[in-house]
Amino acid sequence: MTRTTRVIDGKAAAQRVRDELKREVDARVARGLRRPGLATVLVGDDPASAVYVRNKRKGAEECGLVSVHIPLPTSTTTDELLAVVRRLNADDAVDGILVQLPLPRHIDEHAVLMAVAADKDVDGFHPDNVARLTMGVPEALVPCTPLGCLRLLVDEGVALSGARAVVVGRSNIVGKPMAALLLGKNATVTIAHSRTRELAAVCREADVLVAAVGRAMMLGRDHVKDGAVVIDVGINRTADGKLVGDVDWDAIQGVASAATPVPGGVGPMTIAMLLQNTLTAHGRRLGVTMTT
Ligand code: NDP
Repeated sequence: MTRTTRVIDGKAAAQRVRDELKREVDARVARGLRRPGLATVLVGDDPASAVYVRNKRKGAEECGLVSVHIPLPTSTTTDELLAVVRRLNADDAVDGILVQLPLPRHIDEHAVLMAVAADKDVDGFHPDNVARLTMGVPEALVPCTPLGCLRLLVDEGVALSGARAVVVGRSNIVGKPMAALLLGKNATVTIAHSRTRELAAVCREADVLVAAVGRAMMLGRDHVKDGAVVIDVGINRTADGKLVGDVDWDAIQGVASAATPVPGGVGPMTIAMLLQNTLTAHGRRLGVTMTT
């Protein structure tokens, strides 16, 4: 009997999260708390980065957050950017600080990311937050994309405890935190990467397969166990301008039990999780938990 692969609708899931967050912001404001604030810092005039930041600010405003935007010229030095970050660290009205990447080459990106106060690090890149996630302590601010992937799996009702999970990709932004989150849900986790031997066989072990590679449609039918759930983080543009994931969508139909499409899967969740992290930071800084 042929199976139908369920489409995991990231757009709808992200909208649900945004609605929840808006209700939460309204509830906090009704209790007399100040609105959560998200500061975005954009250095230079890269058009793609400008679009990402605009969408993040728009999302923040729609949820009732205060959006503070700091555009800086390409010529900004590392010291000047560090001074901006320190000012935002000291600003009580700012709960989350997002420095849009990539930064111009002459800026010391590592120094800048390390300078963001850990309790305002809504990207989850600071070593304190990485350590907290690895240690499984609840105070971690977790990178937005893997947090969004986990939320999709949880919303889909995927049983993670005891499941075999394979994460393909080991970046600090996606692969490693994804593996830590799945381990935190008691999955048995394998991280695969460019040196992994017999990748297809490793992937076929997975009940949950997460692809975070950045290679168009590299995972196909041979990589997916019958009935597996597939989360495709990849965003790749083909020669004819089409956006595709790391997974060959057509090839896994009828094999995977459920999968995220590209676009419309993981992508929309990333901004929703940034907004969630800002509310988490706001709540912690003011000593409140979710009220709705
Ligand atoms: P990186 O380039 O930092 O990491 C890619 C990983 O894939 C590396 O660990 C690399 O292994 C591994 N890899 C490369 N080639 C192979 C191969 N042939 N077989 C197995 N593993 C391989 O990418 P990111 O983690 O930043 O991003 C991954 C993808 O996710 C990209 O397409 C990116 O655009 C997308 N993305 C999407 C987001 C969203 O919001 N939806 C957000 C962030 C990223 P090694 O370490 O050995 O080099």
